[in-house]
Amino acid sequence: MDIKALIREVPDFPKPGISFKDITTLLGNADGLRYAIATMAEHCADLAPDYVAGMESRGFIFGTALACKMGVGFVPIRKPGKLPVAVHSIEYALEYGTDKLEIHQDAYPAGSKVLMVDDLIATGGTAGAAAKLIQQAGGTLVGCAFVIELKDLNGRQHLPNVPIITLVEY
Ligand code: AMP
Repeated sequence: MDIKALIREVPDFPKPGISFKDITTLLGNADGLRYAIATMAEHCADLAPDYVAGMESRGFIFGTALACKMGVGFVPIRKPGKLPVAVHSIEYALEYGTDKLEIHQDAYPAGSKVLMVDDLIATGGTAGAAAKLIQQAGGTLVGCAFVIELKDLNGRQHLPNVPIITLVEY
């Protein structure tokens, strides 16, 4: 199945010069969604994670479905101020300014094998920060999975040396 054909490209969103990869059209296609999750699960099977962790908010959609398919629990990595008990947090650089991500300190037992999931890796700033946070919370990062990779931005340089699974490349 051609997953790329189900992803809508929106020029100049959210600002001029950005080609936005809109995954809502993939999510709305029952066969496409099932195929995307099944393919990700297949490619990640050997990593044998104990948990899948996904970044707010599109990482929640794919991450939760993937966790379900792989038979493991899901851990949300959230924007600041959303998680109700003690958190680890990390600040990271954006094009302009900084942002923050948080994870519950008790999200998983120390040494758990964690697979990180997001919809898309662009510059890799978000994924690099989330990878550090997963490790800060005592997890062993066993791999990273993205539906989409924007190759030219070389976001992988911000990730540790673990397997990286992607379904569609631009
Ligand atoms: P980055 O930190 O630059 O790798 O950006 C990754 C995050 O920004 C992902 O969670 C994406 O959801 C979002 N993002 C960045 N670039 C795009 C794009 N061209 N289309 C859709 N989402 C994007």
